[in-house]
Amino acid sequence: MRMTSGSGHLPMGDDKASPWYGRHILSVSQFTREDVDHVHDVAADMQEIVQRTGGCDLLNGKILASIFYEPSTRTSCSFMAAMQRLGGQVIPINEVRSSSVAKGESIADTAITLGCYADVMVIRNPTVGSAAIAAANAGIPVLNAGDGVGEHPTQALLDTFTIRQELGHLDGLAVTLVGDLKNGRTVHSLARLLALYDDVRLTYVAPDSLQMPQDVVDQVAAAGVPQERCAQPDQVIADTDVLYVTRIQQERFSTPEEYEQVKGVYIITPETLRGAKDDLVVMHPLPRVNEIAEEVDADPRAAYFRQMEYGMYVRMALLALVLGRV
Ligand code: ASP
Repeated sequence: MRMTSGSGHLPMGDDKASPWYGRHILSVSQFTREDVDHVHDVAADMQEIVQRTGGCDLLNGKILASIFYEPSTRTSCSFMAAMQRLGGQVIPINEVRSSSVAKGESIADTAITLGCYADVMVIRNPTVGSAAIAAANAGIPVLNAGDGVGEHPTQALLDTFTIRQELGHLDGLAVTLVGDLKNGRTVHSLARLLALYDDVRLTYVAPDSLQMPQDVVDQVAAAGVPQERCAQPDQVIADTDVLYVTRIQQERFSTPEEYEQVKGVYIITPETLRGAKDDLVVMHPLPRVNEIAEEVDADPRAAYFRQMEYGMYVRMALLALVLGRV
């Protein structure tokens, strides 16, 4: 990894020849397995840097514009922390009501604006395809931090990095996805990304009304990944390597009544994990509402808080890659 010049701590400049330089991160469908492994390798280097010295000056002089039209704690904070730990600066717009968005400015015009001031942009917006619109206009690399019920590619990269760090590999795994698979963008991205690996099996535990969208199922099937449905997590827990639990996405329901019908449908408790493998990895993109009982937190297999820490390393890696600094 090329971090600094030989004599000091000055970055060597942008590597414009890197295949990652200037690249948008919009969907996991853009990645090969080699790409994902490379992001993970760089993220592991970032983890080491943070643990050793807290950070470095790799992105000194670079500015990240971070605009969130939907609530966020982990994604927005970890991107900001990632930029700052690499010596860069951040323009945070977490409250779009205080920006010209509130005056009706389009995503395209906002992206053009931020492209004048920043070197890289992160966007979360409720509309599927919004990050692609920003990317077509910004003139700088755009990272999709969640486009409605579409995708959340940086989350899937951190989810797979978590599995790699916890289990050492991504091949041959039985992954059980639980909750709102219809509206949960993290599982749309994760299922597609896991399909790049060998001998992965996916089990979906979701109410009939919240099953995995057909386009994701078709894409995963085309990659030869077996997929099955199951009614309850405890029916498959003994044969599960990774239990990925998600929140019922209340904000995507058209009426409160519809949400009430499925709210609290699965709750993972210590009881659910009885009979699970000793090296099971329990994950959740967070926030959790009530899908995992707090008593599970003390179980060493509960990886969801480590998962959010891994997210910062992955986002450090992505920022450094698209800015051509590694
Ligand atoms: N934080 C994740 C997302 O933005 C998961 C969630 O909100 O449930 O998609």
